[in-house]
Amino acid sequence: MSLIEHSELTSITLAQNRIASINTTTGQFAVNQLIISAGAWTGQLFRKLFPEMLGNAPKIAPVKGQMLLFDAKPETLRTMVLDGDQYLIPRRDGKILAGSTVEQDDFNKSTTTVARDRLTEFALKLLPALKNTPLIHHWAGLRPGTEHGVPYIDKHPEISNLSINAGHFRNGLVMGPASAQLMVDLILGRPSAVAPEPYQLCRPH
Ligand SMILES: Cc1cc2nc3c(=O)[nH]c(=O)nc-3n(C[C@H](O)[C@H](O)[C@H](O)COP(=O)(O)OP(=O)(O)OC[C@H]3O[C@@H](n4cnc5c(N)ncnc54)[C@H](O)[C@@H]3O)c2cc1C
Repeated sequence: MSLIEHSELTSITLAQNRIASINTTTGQFAVNQLIISAGAWTGQLFRKLFPEMLGNAPKIAPVKGQMLLFDAKPETLRTMVLDGDQYLIPRRDGKILAGSTVEQDDFNKSTTTVARDRLTEFALKLLPALKNTPLIHHWAGLRPGTEHGVPYIDKHPEISNLSINAGHFRNGLVMGPASAQLMVDLILGRPSAVAPEPYQLCRPH
């Protein structure tokens, strides 16, 4: 197996309802199976690759999340603390994550002072010991949002070697291994421990 990083998929070559090859910024590659797992960009990428199937594109939209990292000493906080949409999470090195915002802002990944102030206020209220702790990082990521937070994990009904595994919203890290297992089982035609129905392309997501 070879892993090619920093390479953008730009177009595909279709022959008799099969993807014969993909074109990328690092060249053209023959394809056996293509799985689109482009996170928040999946819907946009699908529409670009398959303009004749616009109506079938997965409905996945970017949902921005901003986070802060405090340079806390180990043992400052021993457990995760969840409060609605927000949380404090101690990392193994003691540093504490405070998150996160949930924002509709298209594909804009910039951070804002409003979010920094709101997350800082939340963190200090929950854990006053953070008062003099340096804030060392503030960043944003894009979650692949679907209407009900349910991902798409399925083979495409018309293109025989195309699959989609995307739209995991706030749970892509915890759902990653089981999603990959289900995807492989579907492609290889094996029974799966995970029921496939909720994730089928034709279902509401
Ligand atoms: C602040 C924040 C906190 C989160 N916390 C948690 C958490 O605690 N637990 C949890 O389970 N999940 C969490 N998530 C959600 C999790 O990060 C996502 O669900 C997960 O990253 C989705 O994985 P993915 O591989 O589908 O998409 P991504 O991780 O977004 O990866 C998609 C990749 O596809 C690439 N791509 C796009 N277009 C193309 C193209 N044309 N060609 C090639 N590559 C392309 C992108 O560059 C990107 O690298 C959090 C998200 C945020 C923003």
